[in-house]
Order: sequence, then C-alpha cells, then structure tokens
Amino acid sequence: MAFLQLRGVEKFFGQLRAIKGIELAIERGEFVVFVGPSGCGKSTLLRLIAGLETIDRGTLELDGRDITRLPSSKRDLAMVFQSYALYPHMSVFENMSFALKLAKEDPAVVRDKVERAAKILNLGPYLQRTPRELSGGQRQRVAIGRAIVRAPKVFLFDEPLSNLDAALRGQTRVEIAKLHRELGATTIYVTHDQVEAMTLADRVVVLRDGQIEQVGTPLELYDRPANQFVAQFIGTPQMNVMAASQLPQLQAALSGVPAGGFVGLRPESVALKPAGAGQVQGTVELVEALGAETLIYVNMGTGTPLVARQNTRTSLHAGDRVGIEIDAAAAHLFDAQGRVAAHG
Ligand code: ATP
Repeated sequence: MAFLQLRGVEKFFGQLRAIKGIELAIERGEFVVFVGPSGCGKSTLLRLIAGLETIDRGTLELDGRDITRLPSSKRDLAMVFQSYALYPHMSVFENMSFALKLAKEDPAVVRDKVERAAKILNLGPYLQRTPRELSGGQRQRVAIGRAIVRAPKVFLFDEPLSNLDAALRGQTRVEIAKLHRELGATTIYVTHDQVEAMTLADRVVVLRDGQIEQVGTPLELYDRPANQFVAQFIGTPQMNVMAASQLPQLQAALSGVPAGGFVGLRPESVALKPAGAGQVQGTVELVEALGAETLIYVNMGTGTPLVARQNTRTSLHAGDRVGIEIDAAAAHLFDAQGRVAAHG
C-alpha cells in the first residue's frame, strides 16, 4: 500500500466540480509535483490533502490510516505557502519554534531542533531577527524551517517560490532539491512552472480541469506524453504540433498518422536544411540568438510557425528560404482527439 493514497477524491465549489475523481498513490520519500495551467485545481488538491478544504467524495489515507475527515492539525502534515505566512512580530527563532511550543515540547529539545533546521537552511545568523529584517528568500527559508522542525510525515508546498525574482527562484529551487535529498521526506509541491516541476520531481502529476492528464517521471512525460496537452505543456519552447491535413508532405513522410490527426515535433528534432532539401519548405520568420542556443521560427504557410532549436549559432536571417527535414523517429503522432497514437 502506498504511503499517501487518494481514491476517487472529488471537490465541489457550489455547482463547480473543481476536483474530479482523483486516483493517486504516492510512495514514502517521493517528491511529487502537481503542475498545470491556472485554475486546473492543483492548489485545491493540495488543500484537500492538507485538510484546509473538505473532501466531498472519495478517501485519503496516510501511512495506512484513513485521514479523510481528520482536522488539518491532526494530519501530521506541514504546509509551506507562497505568502510565507510568518508572524511579523516574532523572531525567526520564535516563528520556527512556535508549533513545538504549542505542543509543549521541552525547551531544550525545541532549541536543538530549531538550531539544526537553521543550520541546514543557513539561517543560523538570523535567528533573532524579525521577518521584516530578512530578504524574500530568507523569509521563505524560515517558512520551510518552520515545517522541518515539526518533522511531519509529508511536506506540502504551494507555489513557494512565486514571490522570488528569477535568480533567487533558481537558487532556492536548488536548495529545496538538496533539502529533499538530505531529509528524504515525502513532499508534494504545487507549481505552474513546468521547469520547476521537471527539475524537482521524482514524479510529475499533470492536471487539467480538475483531472489528472498523466503521471510520470519528468523524462517519461517529455519523451512519451500521453496526449497533445501534456506534450505541449511540458518543454520550452513547446512542442510543435501541426494538423497533418495542413501539410500533405507530412503524411507522405510519416506512416501511421491517424485520420484527422496531428504531428508533434520537439524544437530540437527540427533539422533545417538549405532551401529545396528536406520534405517541407518554409521561410525564416524570426531568429532568437540566446547564446548557448538558437531558436529559429519558420513559416510554412500553416498559420503557426515551426520552432527549430539548435545549440549552434546560425547565419540564417528573417526572410531566408529553408528546407525542413522531418525525422520520422522523432515525431509524435496524435489522433483527432489529441490522444497519442505513436511516439517516434
Ligand atoms: P492557480 O495556478 O491560478 O492558483 P490552481 O490550479 O491552483 O490555479 P485552484 O485554485 O485549485 O487552481 O482552483 C481550481 C478551480 O476551483 C478554479 O476554477 C477556481 O476558480 C475554483 N475555486 C478554488 N477555490 C475556490 C473557492 N474557495 N470557492 C469557489 N471556487 C473556488
């Protein structure tokens, strides 16, 4: 039996069925990321697990115990919010020790636990400061520290890095990954950022419209997306997906394209050739030279440019004619409903 088990979990907000029959098993020590577009229900699902919202249908079990109706405070989970939710008038030490004090833990044990967490999070020098005297990244680490000292069975993170600037996000992401390696704690992490999902997760749960679209390791989702939605949600720039009917040359180059179906090509699988070569011809619309990689947008007359990514520089310019070689081994085929038919 899984460590955390969701069975047929549903949530209604009035008429809105926000969470629809979620079945999910999370193993002890796993780092699972819920990802999906705004409004897909990822925060609601996390809040149902945390006990901050009531589950309308289905069950939730933790470590062999049914906790579906248990109040949040008794679930043995600790949540880290995007807003940090620190007590402004308390020092870092007091913020981190608050839950232990409430639980009437021995002061010497409290001190030891807080100091150990502070050491892991590099907060040692700041224990006597108030949150106001800290940077955003330090405040977020205090919020994480407050969760660590409780030694919960599961850590729940709700978009914890959203308030940080890009550099600090990257840095804190690395720290969270390191922390997970050190503590080995079961973690569920909500984000709308697929890069965060890909870099942190053992397994990613892609949600859309209150339902699970696919669960898998980051590279399983990247290499073998179950449908067009997952294919285009995971990966930047996103996978090129073209209606096969728009480009008869594609049908000729690839066998097994379903009737009314779609062809998907990752940008790194699009090989640009001199005009006249390859199966499809197009015109360069835009070149983005990013240094380590170059993105080339090619107009093929289909309405949406095809994006090619290469890790070399290019001498191509907007207006140049190019040929595109389609590698059948790299193509993903989808049926008319967007379900995968074949991976190259
Ligand atoms: P975001 O990334 O924008 O935070 P999300 O994927 O976390 O989105 P949720 O906040 O879980 O999405 O919301 C899922 C759906 O439930 C949305 O349609 C939202 O409007 C609705 N919803 C969430 N909380 C409530 C509430 N308290 N009352 C009514 N509707 C709600």
